Amino acid sequence: MTPFSARLFGPQLPGSGATVNGEWQEDDSLKIVSPDKEWSATNLSVTASGFNAAGIKISWQDERGEYALFIDDASARELCQAAAPAIYSPNLQGASRAKSGVERRFRLGWALLGGLFLLPLLLLGLLFLKQDVVVDWFIQHIPVQQEARIGDMVLAQSRLSMQLIESGPGVEALARIGEKLTINSPHHYRWFVANQKEINAFAAPGGVVVVNAGLLRAISSPEELAGVLAHEIAHAELRHSLKGIAKSLGLRALTSLALGDYGGTALAEGMKKLTELGFSREAEREADQEGLRRLVAAGIDPQGMVRFFELLEKEQQFAPPEFLSTHPSNTERIVALQREIALLPKDWQPLEIDLATIRAGLPQP
Ligand SMILES: [Zn+2]
Repeated sequence: MTPFSARLFGPQLPGSGATVNGEWQEDDSLKIVSPDKEWSATNLSVTASGFNAAGIKISWQDERGEYALFIDDASARELCQAAAPAIYSPNLQGASRAKSGVERRFRLGWALLGGLFLLPLLLLGLLFLKQDVVVDWFIQHIPVQQEARIGDMVLAQSRLSMQLIESGPGVEALARIGEKLTINSPHHYRWFVANQKEINAFAAPGGVVVVNAGLLRAISSPEELAGVLAHEIAHAELRHSLKGIAKSLGLRALTSLALGDYGGTALAEGMKKLTELGFSREAEREADQEGLRRLVAAGIDPQGMVRFFELLEKEQQFAPPEFLSTHPSNTERIVALQREIALLPKDWQPLEIDLATIRAGLPQP
């Protein structure tokens, strides 16, 4: 029969074992040959061995002590199994069964490892590849109450850089028009006039709307103010400002938002950037559309919105208003609005708001 290679451990053998050849005999004994010695082993115990039960261990005892023969090499294992006497077959089959059982456990182990380590890694990879998608998803899932607290932070930050007026005819006018445009909103809106001369306005997350005194002085009808408000409210309702903060700050801020940590310095830095935030053209188009929808629903003449953009165009010829850096006003935009408005019924309720009273209540520039 064909000999198979193996490693033998036992009395008077090196601690690391001796390389030997095993050969099954006709009398069911096992002949083991090393370069300088020979054994004839009987009354064998055959079991699976190795850390994954892939090997075969054959052990026996003689007058010198206990011997153990390990067959780990795959081809040697096959030779050993093929020639083994029938009495050892069940044990050898048991060994291969034990092996497959261990393999099953190992596969399960890998699956668990996969779940624990690979899945988060995969998600992390996805996070970097599809950051915009992740940010968008995240933004859509920030609760309204948390958004309001982010609004508080923006407000606190704004007070550091500008004087905010919280009462008087200007603020009352913003609130009166604003209420018509925010019916069914989940936010509790707060309206402010900033003592700033530039034609500008912005909406912070959570329903904070700030309109510059310079804008209130430049417009020629309350409908124009309604147009700006509708556009800014649309930005807030569509969570553009929130998205802007999140994108300019990155995932670190998202994490702190998720954990409810609004005091983080990273977040405060993002707040500073809010008024300089440039929304994408797509976001501006969306805000125009949503603003127009809100004006129509409130029964306010949307031509005011168009006239406001025309005012910006005109102002740009002298000195580019700050508003333009964040709100790209162009003829294409005006044309798009006019096209939509032309299809609407002309049934508007005029706004009973006196611009002269508003201007008289503003602090001196
Ligand atoms: Zn805008």
